[in-house]
Amino acid sequence: MNVLWLQSAGCGGCTMSLLCAENPNVFDTLGDAGIRFLWHPSFSLETGAEARRILESVEAGETPLDVLCVEGSIVTGPRGTGKYHMLAGTGRSMLDWVQSLAPKARHVVAVGSCAAFGGITAAGGNPAGALGLQWDGTLEGGALPGAFRSASGLPVINVAGCPTHPAWVTETLLLLAGEAMSEGDLDPFRRPRFYADHLVHHGCTKNEFYEYKASARSLSEMGCMMEHLGCVGTQAVGDCNIRPWNGEGSCTRGGYPCIACTSPEFEEPNHPFTETPTIAGIPVGLPSDMPKAWFMALASLSKAATPKRIDVNAHSDRIRVAPTLRVKRK
Ligand code: SF4
Ligand code: SF4
Repeated sequence: MNVLWLQSAGCGGCTMSLLCAENPNVFDTLGDAGIRFLWHPSFSLETGAEARRILESVEAGETPLDVLCVEGSIVTGPRGTGKYHMLAGTGRSMLDWVQSLAPKARHVVAVGSCAAFGGITAAGGNPAGALGLQWDGTLEGGALPGAFRSASGLPVINVAGCPTHPAWVTETLLLLAGEAMSEGDLDPFRRPRFYADHLVHHGCTKNEFYEYKASARSLSEMGCMMEHLGCVGTQAVGDCNIRPWNGEGSCTRGGYPCIACTSPEFEEPNHPFTETPTIAGIPVGLPSDMPKAWFMALASLSKAATPKRIDVNAHSDRIRVAPTLRVKRK
């Protein structure tokens, strides 16, 4: 299976993340499965005219294309021409290239939230007219129409995340190579369900603090970051805390709140990322699937029952009170 990878309007962080795949590394993982890069702007030797010839060969139908991966959003400005982002040496915009190459591909994969939904590049007034490949934030229809289907019959597969977890990309490519991904394997925002059926909250090391609503008030404290520090891990999809980055890292494990980077329009929360908006002291964004009244009742009960160890440690940058050891009576 061959993969053509284009980098559009993004930061390149999704490629950097992919390079962090380990056990085995990305090249061994893909190589062993018979997946090779037709061209990747950072991994391939070809540049300039050689690279352009590869693209032209795919466009002309001389080289069959199994997967078109696009990283970064697609710029449509000014006035829908896409000319704010030209593909060097071709006299054509990236928008034009993507619209021409996507129908030739058996599968199209948007790598990262920029390519999926617009992401960070579409933040603010979005003067560049940045769009996702097939979505504009939460609305279907981006650089490609909402009705677009690649040659396999699938819509654009949105491997959303900022950046994406390397294993989300390799697992998607492995499933495509094995013809083992169908539309039913994608969630309503077309994210692969193998990671989108989990919440970031699952497996977070702060779960015990969450249970008692023992909350951190500053980023250096050990407590749960939902109540005061903007963590939306109870609503955001991703298995980041089940298979952490590099075997051990995630945002919440590093002491930073989850900002739902796998979600469309995460870049515009309308409040600082590290603040929880509240009404009368109640967080506005409550956990998925939980009615507000239940949350209120559970929160007040659990706060009243918080053990001293959890209460003290939640407001500290290290463990101050160790668990009580139970000694068996002889
Ligand atoms: S999704 Fe995030 S990491 Fe990936 S290209 Fe966009 S800004 Fe960079
Ligand atoms: S910090 Fe966030 S992800 Fe972790 S337990 Fe609290 S709400 Fe859940």
